[in-house]
Amino acid sequence: MVDNRPFEIARETLKQLTTRKLAPTPANYQSVYCEVAGVPTLPPFPADHLREIAQALPAKTPGQQRHRALLESAVGQMNWDGVKSALLAYAGFTPAAPAQDAATAAPVAGAALAPAMATPTLPSAAAAPALTAEFFEQIARLIDYARPALGTDDARFNQQTQDVISALRQPGADAIVVKRLLADFGHRLSFAAEEQVEVRAGLLKLLHLIFENIGELSVDDHWLTGQIEALKSASLPPLTLRRLDEVERLLRDVIFKQAEAKGRELQAHEEMRQMLVAFVARLSQMTESTSTFHSKLDESARLIERAKTLTDVAPVLKDVVGATRTMAQDTMSVRDELRGMREKALTTEAEIAKLHQELDRVSIQARHDSLTGALNRKGLDEALVRELSVVRRKDTPLCVALLDIDNFKKINDKLGHATGDAALMHLAAVTREVMRPQDTLARYGGEEFVLLLPDTALDQGVEAMTRLQRELTKRFFMAGADKVLITFSAGVAQLAADETGPDAIKRADQAMYLAKRAGKNRVLAA
Ligand code: GH3
Ligand code: MG
Ligand code: MG
Repeated sequence: MVDNRPFEIARETLKQLTTRKLAPTPANYQSVYCEVAGVPTLPPFPADHLREIAQALPAKTPGQQRHRALLESAVGQMNWDGVKSALLAYAGFTPAAPAQDAATAAPVAGAALAPAMATPTLPSAAAAPALTAEFFEQIARLIDYARPALGTDDARFNQQTQDVISALRQPGADAIVVKRLLADFGHRLSFAAEEQVEVRAGLLKLLHLIFENIGELSVDDHWLTGQIEALKSASLPPLTLRRLDEVERLLRDVIFKQAEAKGRELQAHEEMRQMLVAFVARLSQMTESTSTFHSKLDESARLIERAKTLTDVAPVLKDVVGATRTMAQDTMSVRDELRGMREKALTTEAEIAKLHQELDRVSIQARHDSLTGALNRKGLDEALVRELSVVRRKDTPLCVALLDIDNFKKINDKLGHATGDAALMHLAAVTREVMRPQDTLARYGGEEFVLLLPDTALDQGVEAMTRLQRELTKRFFMAGADKVLITFSAGVAQLAADETGPDAIKRADQAMYLAKRAGKNRVLAA
């Protein structure tokens, strides 16, 4: 034992290290120091390892973030109690009260050690029982309403939800108990909500995969590609019921038509097969009767050679005439049958061609917006690819315009949604009349349209859109007997070298946005 003063302990420690030929590492120094000072050797605080663990913990939800921050703070303080509390809280056990030093050292993290949901000071049940009961009832209702959105598969969570609701609705519920239950529930809720988001994203991904696979497997992809693409884009977030409805209708239509055509085609094949069987049978009969006829003729020729009198020839001739007549009748009936078969084959062919035309028509619908008849997003994508290849091949300018009707919500609000729909149809009709036949009109969103103007430079594009604007002021939209003036704001972009179609649309969209900000009812070049 040495003098207890730290200086002496340190000196003796260094001496011992040299005598024992120990490497002067921090660990060796600490161990010998404790030995010399006569205090128990404490294992070093594994701050680095704990920090690594803290880093590895997911921090997606606000609750997880708070608990992780708390853990990091406790590690920084080398505070074992703090580490323990933070880990317990992260794991979802009722968080213990934070160790004082950790809480004061890191106030943000310290706040997180308190229940995961920040709990306001509740009115005491004794002071304002009616108010508290009402407040609790509101929270219970809120949880009840949110329940379906959180999924019902987790029995433990369901039970916990039920417990919280029951506790909230219990007459004279104790605010402290409710607060603790709510804190636990809030913590579990953050996990449940996160899981629901992931489940939804996973399902959408799965749906996409299925659509893609149907597209790949479909033999008649010519018909189905449009529908599959429409389904794929309709299932991209954000989902709208309206969009899904429309695609469902189109898809049902095509599936029905395709099944009909398939059935008819199978039937036609069967008919053709049967006709062929009949034809082959007739052919072999023909060959048979022809060879019978030939042998009859041979035999008759021989008999005629040998005949000495006309009386001998007469019965032979009778036989020959008979055989020839039978032969002629056979030939005629075979010819009639063949003609019948041919007509039937032609009729079937025409029917199938008609069905194919019908399928093509429905397939075209998948590229068009059913309300306005303009191309839909899928149709626009295809038109863009076509126009871009012309631009690249012929080196001609292409303008892309995006127009958005001004104050359209007001039209809906004042005159009703159906009139709003009619206004959209009116705009599309006027646009088709005013623009050139080679220009393409597509419905880009609710009341937004994109125009592709081939062979058009920027100033001509702006001019064309301004002309459309002028025409709309002349051709009023009639809502019953009322004249309604429809105006729009538009942006026009000329496709730059190496620019993609969607990028040009984006530029046009930005210009349109500026036109809105500049007071609407105007056309701006991008
Ligand atoms: P702004 O001048 O800034 O463009 O205002 P706005 O009211 O035109 O624009 P906003 O985007 O706020 O509203 C567009 C409205 O268009 C909202 C939506 O209800 C309506 N809408 C979208 N699609 C349709 C549709 O197919 N038919 C009808 N009637 N209305 C639609
Ligand atoms: Mg809009
Ligand atoms: Mg608008």
